[in-house]
Amino acid sequence: MLLNDLRWYTVGDARILKIQDLMLAALSPEQLLPDWDEATALQIYPRLPETLDSSETKVLLSVHSWLIEDRGRKILIDTGAGNNKARPAALYFDHLQTVWLENLMLAGVCPEDIDFVLLTHLHVDHVGWNTRLQNGIWVPTFPNARYVFSRAEYDFFSNPAHDSVRNKTSFMTRADSVDPIVRAGLADQIDVDGSDFLEGISFHPTPGHTPHHASVVLRSGVEHALFTGDVMHHPIQVCVPEWSAVFDADPQTAIISRKWALNYAVEHDATVFTSHFPMTSAGRVMTDDQNMSWSFL
Ligand SMILES: [Zn+2]
Repeated sequence: MLLNDLRWYTVGDARILKIQDLMLAALSPEQLLPDWDEATALQIYPRLPETLDSSETKVLLSVHSWLIEDRGRKILIDTGAGNNKARPAALYFDHLQTVWLENLMLAGVCPEDIDFVLLTHLHVDHVGWNTRLQNGIWVPTFPNARYVFSRAEYDFFSNPAHDSVRNKTSFMTRADSVDPIVRAGLADQIDVDGSDFLEGISFHPTPGHTPHHASVVLRSGVEHALFTGDVMHHPIQVCVPEWSAVFDADPQTAIISRKWALNYAVEHDATVFTSHFPMTSAGRVMTDDQNMSWSFL
């Protein structure tokens, strides 16, 4: 879908915009969150219906990037699912034709303008627009960018011992969306340790969804933005962080990372930019003495 309004967020001096790739309505809440309990869910998250499709049976999952303009730099957080890619084991992403690139251009940004592409992890719906098909070859979409991601994550999805049924799509994804970046010399593989990779930007370890998943923090002045990646898939997980998603490789570790991210957001009064929440996909973590809750911005 084409963007019909450009809703820029401001965090300090930085500007942030969602670049939509697609919307999915494929899974019921029970399928997405195996610990789901309908009565509990409606009690703790009354706004549940607006996160479901029109039949109110399937969870709406957005797939998108975040574009950041900060200190003269143009930065993308994650790159959606991409076009033309064969995904026989993940048919929702198979041979897509989306208008993600047109949406980027509507924001006034050409692929050549992007300085950095920061990847939270290397799953199919986060690295797709890293490359595009030209004359039968996958070439970097952003020829002037440095692509930054966890070295350990890349090593994990390169190790034949991890080429399981669960990881099949991730291995195909690596081959057409990450390896061409590495071969072109555009990759900066980093150790994820919370230190600043760029002025005001840091990667923080939030493992569980994948073994070396990272969340990204942007600081501008006294304000913080937290890009969670796939630490959460649905706003109700702010209320019950113990409910891990079916996509989390290590559900127990994912809970620890989710709690870390939520606490970070509260402590630093951060604006939170999620990877899959529907509607604006951005919001704040609200807290009282006992509980946390989600508020869309
Ligand atoms: Zn994802």
